[in-house]
Amino acid sequence: MPDRIIYADNAATTRLSEAALAAMTPYLTGQYGNPSSLYSFGQQSRQAVERARHTVAEALGCAPREVFFTSGGSESDNWALKMGAALMKSRGKTHLISTAFEHHAVLHTLKQLERDSSPRAADSSPRAADSSPRAADRFTVTLLPVYENGVVRPADLAEAITPQTGLVSVMFANNEIGTIQPIAEIGAICRAAGVLFHTDAVQAAGHIPIDFKGMQIDLLSLSGHKFHGPKGVGGLLIRNGLRLDNLIAGGAQEGGRRAGTENVAGVAGMAAALAEAAGTMAADAEKMSRQRDRLIREIQAAIPRCRLNGDPVLRLPNNVNMSFEGIEGESLLLRLDYVDKICASTGSACTTNSLVPSHVLMAIGLPVEVSHGSLRLSLSAETTDEEIDHIIKVLPGHVDWLREKSPLWENICRNEGI
Ligand SMILES: *Cc1c(COP(=O)(O)O)cnc(C)c1O
Repeated sequence: MPDRIIYADNAATTRLSEAALAAMTPYLTGQYGNPSSLYSFGQQSRQAVERARHTVAEALGCAPREVFFTSGGSESDNWALKMGAALMKSRGKTHLISTAFEHHAVLHTLKQLERDSSPRAADSSPRAADSSPRAADRFTVTLLPVYENGVVRPADLAEAITPQTGLVSVMFANNEIGTIQPIAEIGAICRAAGVLFHTDAVQAAGHIPIDFKGMQIDLLSLSGHKFHGPKGVGGLLIRNGLRLDNLIAGGAQEGGRRAGTENVAGVAGMAAALAEAAGTMAADAEKMSRQRDRLIREIQAAIPRCRLNGDPVLRLPNNVNMSFEGIEGESLLLRLDYVDKICASTGSACTTNSLVPSHVLMAIGLPVEVSHGSLRLSLSAETTDEEIDHIIKVLPGHVDWLREKSPLWENICRNEGI
């Protein structure tokens, strides 16, 4: 049994990099001034925030004034969708388009928008009838299909856009199956149609190239802890000229657009991590893609009745998601953890407490019983070839062990004469 953990859950969160920690330390210790204070002790904190803004802008292809710091990916998604939808509603556009396999920060926000604008949300007393939302004020949501390979087709989007469409939200890369979406094509379609385009780029930032301006993106969410920055800090890029209302109201921080005393250490750490990731991106992607493909190939060779979920090529360099028929992913996770100290995931971390099948695996048409036996391994630049070797060595044994005890597997064998 290894005495160190093998961390293969980098889509859930990542280790803070040394560079990020070093960039944060002054602002967690002696350099505690408030960036809004006018004396120079405060202004040093302000300069740290503004330096971070430049660094983030440079990494993502936008202008520094288009960068707004938030508390993370979830807040950024909520801000973009709630205020983006409100802005377009003021122009009479209440149709929203997204996909069936977005992160819950997007899907649940869209549900809220639909629910809060529906007539049933209004007071049902007779006098309130006049104040209930008119049909034209109600948000409607179309979710695009993502097909078996987990990739949106731009032609479907072009077809779904109507004169009432105000906003489109399509994630840059999926957090469960790692598939990369045709963001530049989607951006072009939205820009031509005069529709706002938001992308949740939380899994993409620091991992694959992003060009905010070139890809014609209006709103982009990112989160520090998915690329070796700290937790609880993120950003929303807002295209210059777009007057998105505040989600968090209060003080005049972030140009008056997002209130609250800045998370100076967090912002500095996130920027340092993003700059570091951008600098080593090509080499890291090359190395991780090789490890990823070896994992997929060797697991498939060693374990019968398993499949790769999501496109094999249009895929994040660090994502492996496979299903093993006849077992429960939860049981596999527990064995990997208990016996081999391997940290992995089945679907996204937020759904592991429920037996509801992953909405992402449902969206790519996986049968429910197969989706239950899914495993996500997400690598980082720190993942070693020895760790990959170890996973390949022990995984087939764990799957066998679980299948031997599985009535599901027994059925499969009987039916198929295995
Ligand atoms: C992790 C994640 C989020 C949420 O980000 P937090 O900073 O944890 O709030 C949103 N979208 C995607 C795709 C993610 O992977």
